[in-house]
Amino acid sequence: MSLSAVLARIDENFAHFVEKLDSFSRIPGISAEPAPSPALADSAARVCEMMREVGLLGVRVMELEGAHPYAYGEWLQRPGAPTLLLYAHHDVQPTGRDERWLSPPFEPEIRDGRMYGRGVVDDKAGVLSHLAAIAAWMQETGALPCNVKFIVEGEEETGSEHLEEFLAAHAELLAADCILLTDTANLDTGIPSITTRLRGLVGADIKVRGLKGPLHSGMWGGPVPDPVMALVKILARLTDAEGEVAIPGFWDEVREPSPEQREQLNSLPFDAADFKRDAGMLEGMEFSGSPSATVYEKLWFRPVLSINGLISVPVDGASNQITDSAQARVSIRLVPDQDPERCRDLLVEALRAEPPFGVEVEVEPGPAAIWWSTEAQGPAFEAAARAMELGFDKPCTFIGCGGTIPFVTPFARVLGGIPAVLLGLEDPACAAHAENESLHLGDWRKGMRATAALYEELREVLGGPLQEL
Ligand SMILES: [Zn+2]
Repeated sequence: MSLSAVLARIDENFAHFVEKLDSFSRIPGISAEPAPSPALADSAARVCEMMREVGLLGVRVMELEGAHPYAYGEWLQRPGAPTLLLYAHHDVQPTGRDERWLSPPFEPEIRDGRMYGRGVVDDKAGVLSHLAAIAAWMQETGALPCNVKFIVEGEEETGSEHLEEFLAAHAELLAADCILLTDTANLDTGIPSITTRLRGLVGADIKVRGLKGPLHSGMWGGPVPDPVMALVKILARLTDAEGEVAIPGFWDEVREPSPEQREQLNSLPFDAADFKRDAGMLEGMEFSGSPSATVYEKLWFRPVLSINGLISVPVDGASNQITDSAQARVSIRLVPDQDPERCRDLLVEALRAEPPFGVEVEVEPGPAAIWWSTEAQGPAFEAAARAMELGFDKPCTFIGCGGTIPFVTPFARVLGGIPAVLLGLEDPACAAHAENESLHLGDWRKGMRATAALYEELREVLGGPLQEL
């Protein structure tokens, strides 16, 4: 009974929250700036102000040496009911190439049902989804169906470097029965999705040197090998003809999708032409990777190698020379059950092995971040799927994410074992992290409705019947 009134209230309040998002998105809280940054202090303070407005208690900015500020608020007025730990982040990515923005990044503009601006979808709409759901419950019933603790981080976009330390320092304050992390994507516009796996990441830089200086390729070429060619050969042997990682031992720990997972992957909608268009693949481009694996399997269940950087001599100004040195940065996305340290060692070893022509090879190991996955089973996930379906009026899909989100593993480690439900508002058109980032306003309203329903669904499955206050 009260849920339908709460949902109606969300609809009524929607225009007000669009204004709030507009105003919040004018704060240029770019976390790539060194801490302390005045914009991130403003942004954390704004989150606190909005938390107080909707009725959260114990609201405060929380600091940790060297980290951008966290905003925290809670509502723990329902004894015996479960406690949800809500997570979102208030920092944003840098704006990239300003001339590519069709409207200024920190002056949000609505065009064709989408709001454009830096941070609107990633993750300011995530922050406000919860605040809108909380506001509607408070206005309609004077209370929330369960207890909540809301933590809004200020450095997600730079890798959540201090998050684990922060969580460990406040483990008691943040203890909960379930975590809702609102910062991921939906499979498509209008299709509610819960993310159940993320890839990990390892990397390394390689520098190849073979000569004391550049040489005339006519006078010396032939007997004197080309160090740039040596680097290209080293890079080429890392993958096979299909583009799959070909480093010995690299696939040993890769867990194949189970028959159920495969069936689930095959049930997801997929259109190759749309996918290629969304990716910006040029006419005639084919998919890489084993032809026996589907696109979703390649994205979520298989490792992939990328060459992220490559330097020798710029083509402009190049002459007929043998270049003395070259360098590259290589990274590989990892999947369950690959061990990041072991995979990084294998990558480093492969880069160093048998240098062509005896060139000097220097390898600097890079990051080693672990993948994350959860079994989307049990009452919390069933409740989440029901709430998402209710909010979006479409069945909920369980998806993977090919990217690496550093904040999930710290939560899993420190708060050990409680279910973590990952949801969010990104869609294929949202251009998060790129120029012209945008939020689909229709999906945002649906996301708020789903969030409000989720609080009640989770209270029911985790905490039993509602006690009168
Ligand atoms: Zn984000």
